[in-house]
Amino acid sequence: MFNFFDKIQENLLKLIYPDVCNGCNKLLVKGEAIICTSCLHELPYTFHHETQINEIDRKFYGILPFSFCISMLYFHKSGIVQNLIHNLKYKNKQEIGTFLGALYAEELKDFERIKNVTHLIPVPLHKKRLHERGYNQIDAFCESLAVALDIPLEKNVLYRNTYSKSQTKKSKTERAAIKQSLFAVRIPYEFSAPHFLLVDDVITSGATIEACAKELLKIPNATVSILTIAYAQS
Ligand SMILES: [Zn+2]
Repeated sequence: MFNFFDKIQENLLKLIYPDVCNGCNKLLVKGEAIICTSCLHELPYTFHHETQINEIDRKFYGILPFSFCISMLYFHKSGIVQNLIHNLKYKNKQEIGTFLGALYAEELKDFERIKNVTHLIPVPLHKKRLHERGYNQIDAFCESLAVALDIPLEKNVLYRNTYSKSQTKKSKTERAAIKQSLFAVRIPYEFSAPHFLLVDDVITSGATIEACAKELLKIPNATVSILTIAYAQS
């Protein structure tokens, strides 16, 4: 009986708030979820994992020692991916992360180098931001990947240091020093030659990833790789 009323309520809610595609805002039809079939077919995959040397490799070459760097999709202004990331980040639609994680895990099934990864590490959100938003936008994506690829998710190793409030009053060198120490690592248990896969939403300048990776590399015998939902060409 309850199911019957639940169903009515669900349908009424759908009439008032119909499900729309998170990529293009068009109404979703029966059988579609998260994004419409058209957007699903138009997702701009990078195929980084099938390329010998990709754009991110070039970006970090000589700056960061890493095993591999891959992004799932290309990020274009006012494109499907920008809408997906926006909805994931600001509209509390974590199901987008879950969906993309599962989709990417399927792509990565035959990617041999990911099989050496020992831990998935999400780029942490600052505590204050986490409190305001209530969630880290990358967590659902990470959890989905972790389950599908059978790699443990480790949220306690990398963390963000507390912000210094009046940064503007500080000198340029002081600010640079603060920027460098935005992230830090703690070692909750003994690692033996860990291979950390650092996961973030969008890679643009690469500064955040670089700062995180450098901290992770302070752990003895650590290897770092990078994976993001999207790559913004600059
Ligand atoms: Zn669409």
